[in-house]
Amino acid sequence: MTLKIAIPNKGRLSERSVELLSKAGLDIGEDWGRKLYVSVKGRDIEVMLVRAQDIPEFVHSGAIDFGITGLDQVEESGYALENMLNLEFGHCRLSLAVPDGSPVKSGMDIPDGSRIATSFPKITKRFFESIGKKVDVIVISGAAEIMPYLGVADCIVDLVSTGSTLKMNRLREAEVLFRSQAAIVTSSKALREKKEAMLEVTEAIHSVIAAENRKYLMANVPRSMITEVEKFLPGIGGPTVLEIAGNGEMVAVQAVVSYSQLYDAINNLRKIGATGILTLSMERLVE
Ligand code: AMP
Repeated sequence: MTLKIAIPNKGRLSERSVELLSKAGLDIGEDWGRKLYVSVKGRDIEVMLVRAQDIPEFVHSGAIDFGITGLDQVEESGYALENMLNLEFGHCRLSLAVPDGSPVKSGMDIPDGSRIATSFPKITKRFFESIGKKVDVIVISGAAEIMPYLGVADCIVDLVSTGSTLKMNRLREAEVLFRSQAAIVTSSKALREKKEAMLEVTEAIHSVIAAENRKYLMANVPRSMITEVEKFLPGIGGPTVLEIAGNGEMVAVQAVVSYSQLYDAINNLRKIGATGILTLSMERLVE
């Protein structure tokens, strides 16, 4: 049975989605940019290239089995999809933003009757209902930041990552409504019918992310220091310790180290007299 996965064909999530698939071993070739769907070479998998915001609908309706999109899009769709894996990119937040000089500190300070421009009407309505505010939601398809300036709206609800676009448009973030990142999402029906095949793809992608966040560290350390090394180089189930031919004093130590711990690990190795310290990037790490 063909497995159908959807990824965004353009926009912020597109390039990284293609990169993750190809690093995971699912080759969709070079000219994917002009196609609606591509068959993965040598596998019974089809990759659909569609808009990020359409993916929740396609997954919900069963037209595709699973897809990569922003969790903001899933939330806005209102469908109860299953999140198989957070992909640790496309981080952003859906926020209420008000003009710079406004005294508004949070949604609670927004007066009834205010006009809110957004391309996320469902999340916005749900938020203001939940805090008992009666506001006028103006649905737009983009460039929300300009709406207060044009006098079309009093404030906006829009996606923010660095905040620089808000600043440029003299807006200030007043409250975060939803925190988002890219994820692999599916439906409970697809999970029942194709769980195993979908897990294979999801785990392959997970292994790419896991490898990117870590380095393979190798060093020669004095044999007498192995217990010391174990304290700061946990590795996966402990560091690998190997004999070095013709050298009774030193042993070779290898371990997978998270990127954030690499700096300290190397310094600690130097302090205990390690030599030949080197780090390698990994392509995939299946835990
Ligand atoms: P796009 O197709 O470029 O409109 O991207 C859509 C998705 O990118 C959004 O639904 C978010 O999940 C994600 N995204 C991440 N950062 C931002 C940002 N600063 N502004 C808009 N979308 C973002």
